[in-house]
Amino acid sequence: MQQKITIQNGELNVPNNPTIPFIEGDGVGQEIWKNVQPVLDKAVEKAYGGTREINWIEVLAGEKAFNKTGAWLPDETMAAFREYLVGIKGPLTTPVGGGIRSLNVALRQDLDLYACVRPVRWFEGVESPIKTPDKVNMTIFRENTEDIYAGIEWMQGTPEAKKIFDFLRTEMGVKKVRFPETSSFGIKPVSVEGTERLVRAAIDYALENNLPSVTIVHKGNIMKFTEGGFKLWGYTLAEREYGDKVFTMLQWDRIKKEQGEDTANKHLNEAKKNRKLIIKDVIADAFLQNTLLKPAEYSVIATLNLNGDYISDQLAAMVGGIGIAPGANINYKTGHAIFEATHGTAPDIAGKNIVNPSSVILSAVMMLEYMGWAEAAELITNALCKLYGAGKATADLARFMDNGQSYSTSEFTLLLAENL
Ligand code: NAD
Repeated sequence: MQQKITIQNGELNVPNNPTIPFIEGDGVGQEIWKNVQPVLDKAVEKAYGGTREINWIEVLAGEKAFNKTGAWLPDETMAAFREYLVGIKGPLTTPVGGGIRSLNVALRQDLDLYACVRPVRWFEGVESPIKTPDKVNMTIFRENTEDIYAGIEWMQGTPEAKKIFDFLRTEMGVKKVRFPETSSFGIKPVSVEGTERLVRAAIDYALENNLPSVTIVHKGNIMKFTEGGFKLWGYTLAEREYGDKVFTMLQWDRIKKEQGEDTANKHLNEAKKNRKLIIKDVIADAFLQNTLLKPAEYSVIATLNLNGDYISDQLAAMVGGIGIAPGANINYKTGHAIFEATHGTAPDIAGKNIVNPSSVILSAVMMLEYMGWAEAAELITNALCKLYGAGKATADLARFMDNGQSYSTSEFTLLLAENL
């Protein structure tokens, strides 16, 4: 019988044999998935003694879908993700040509997957460009639906750009456009609702996982109403909805003004001692510096779309993991979630059995955790740690490791399954 993951009052209800749709992906996608799926099945079997099993169903997207059905993202695929809530995907070719949306963007928008979640941690053995990669352990919550992602832009020289400028000048009294004749214009919407649902997701995650802090990363010093709004609404939400469970730096500021800095620090230290979740904020440029200089200060990050884009790549590079970084796009309210490799289709190495499957594997680990199947997730993470720690990896990582031994994709996944 087909069993579906459902959601009730914000809680996922995961049966023992859930149906989970997967998109194999283009390029290296196929060779990754065929090797990874057996590892996932074995981990689940081992963790639950055969009482749980995933019923995988393939759905099509990308080149494979186009070749078989003539559509890049068939309606049945969207319907499956809508119906089964949780799914996983490999990388997809972005179709080139007018009028075709990026498939990844289409999936995120249609399912309103507002939180892009990227955990960043170091695996011992993996080469890193920084001295203390072991101190990097962060989870980024990047807002997925607003900010520049909204894609509201007009090209310079078009009647639309002229219309926007005329409106700004005559109706809004804007005088600051330096070269109006040759300016393109973009709009950056950031809302209270969009901010609140993202920051709420970050705080819930931090509380559930007993983490020390959530840092709101923004450029509110320059963009006061959009990025500054994000910071203010984030803090306000934290105090309003989480009360005693959190201590915010806004609170610290108020105490400092009324009773001095020493008292404010005393309250902060007390909150830390009582393991309250600390909500703080930092300007995006300072944050990027600080992550290099004192990464241990940060745990969960809540940020807007564009900042999140830069931050995700920098942090992933710091742990040497830009090719192995996992990701997920989630709507915590409806339960819809798609877990995905963060790299592309790697056409230059497709079909050679050398691609690193770890990005998809770790995305699957995130999926198992999201489903509440933490035991299976842990088996996989531990096995991966063991292999990397012993210098066993695919060529992209092995060549930089001390005593690195290079394995093909299929050899590496077999080794992983043996080490579960
Ligand atoms: P890419 O990530 O596919 O490749 C960049 C480089 O990294 C290549 O040299 C590749 O061989 C290497 N690489 C990537 N993943 C690897 C892995 N797992 N193991 C070993 N090496 C790996 O980026 P690109 O070349 O800019 O994009 C190729 C295609 O992928 C484009 O069509 C692009 O639109 C698409 N893309 C899709 C996604 C997605 O579906 N999430 C993300 C990025 C790019």
